Amino acid sequence: MNVFVVNCGSSSLKYQLINSDTEEVIAKGLCERIGIDGKLTHNPKGLDKYESSEAMPDHKTAVSLVLEALTDKEHGVINDLSEIGAVGHRIVHGGEKFAKSVVINDEVISAIEECNDLAPLHNPANLIGISACRALMPETPMVAVFDTAFHQTMPKKAFLYGLPYEYYEDYKVRKYGFHGTSHSFVSKRLLELIDKVNEPSKVIVCHLGNGSSITAVKDGKSVDTSMGFTPLDGLIMGTRSGSIDPALTQFLAAKLQVSLDEVITILNKKSGVEGISGVSSDFRDLEAASKDGNERATAALEMFAYRAAQYIGSYVASMNGVDAIAFTAGIGENNITVRKMICDYLSYLGFELDEKANANRGEEIMISTPDSRVKVYVIPTNEELAIARETLELIG
Ligand code: ADP
Repeated sequence: MNVFVVNCGSSSLKYQLINSDTEEVIAKGLCERIGIDGKLTHNPKGLDKYESSEAMPDHKTAVSLVLEALTDKEHGVINDLSEIGAVGHRIVHGGEKFAKSVVINDEVISAIEECNDLAPLHNPANLIGISACRALMPETPMVAVFDTAFHQTMPKKAFLYGLPYEYYEDYKVRKYGFHGTSHSFVSKRLLELIDKVNEPSKVIVCHLGNGSSITAVKDGKSVDTSMGFTPLDGLIMGTRSGSIDPALTQFLAAKLQVSLDEVITILNKKSGVEGISGVSSDFRDLEAASKDGNERATAALEMFAYRAAQYIGSYVASMNGVDAIAFTAGIGENNITVRKMICDYLSYLGFELDEKANANRGEEIMISTPDSRVKVYVIPTNEELAIARETLELIG
């Protein structure tokens, strides 16, 4: 069966068509500038890339253009829409309502809507993607896969904040965590690699990309994670500050003479390694600048690694031990220097880096020496494949 995986943002739509028998991606692409003008980039497997700038006034038009591209005589990969057996939608926030992926129906849509104020930039866009697909493929079963669901197993001691308890009851203020699809996918693979699938286990997954988070996974379940009520918390990221003293928001608003909204925008978009270095949010640029002697770029890299190592250490404490650690996502899979910088903090765990193995990029590999007590792996993440698998499991 072919599963159409949709990741819908406020002005963009990423998609993949995955053959669930072979797990092969038979087409993937991106719609950009929806509601502005519109650009479609469609990559069918084994065929030439197709680009179009046909107008995309709304998401329904964007979905319709993607479906046309998928079934087109020249750059299509299927004959007609009946060859799409199911649609898997990535949904950012499922609140406390969704601890698992679900088949989409009217009730589920209302429940996702109720989570909108927890993710006001993302959930409404995700819902628009669902309704656009439903309008064009009314008979096709659809599944919602949530970024937050995997973390719903966190215990109260990990997810509550030190705030008046009523805020949790009245406003659902708590840690939710994100990147759940990736943490779930990578931790499952890690358990296979260390041969502990149905055994007691303690592992830590470091998803280090533009947005970064680290998760403690005990016996296959998330027990703590570094992102919080929003994806701003935790690690220092590309442009996000990560954890800071909350009193700074008021201090900065006063100093900069800006509103709290503007301070939050600064923390989301102008901070992190970009704000520290003044160079870039991209770790390749930071590494190059650091090699050229740029001290702020060096500081940004050191701060990133230091904070990541601190979270790993705190999760070793949370679980009272660790069997294995995985690095994933853009930086975790590809940045040899940053992996080494983080690993340099881990010798207390009885871990030694295999420098030769660590010289690889983008492939599944063990980077700890065979003698290391704690095993460390690089495991490429694949959120689209994880969504396709979840979708198939629910409707298959
Ligand atoms: P997002 O959170 O947007 O999905 P990614 O997981 O793609 O982000 O991570 C982006 C980061 O990964 C960038 O800082 C980039 O430097 C790094 N990265 C991606 N590919 C490579 C590569 N081939 N070599 C080194 N770094 C890479």
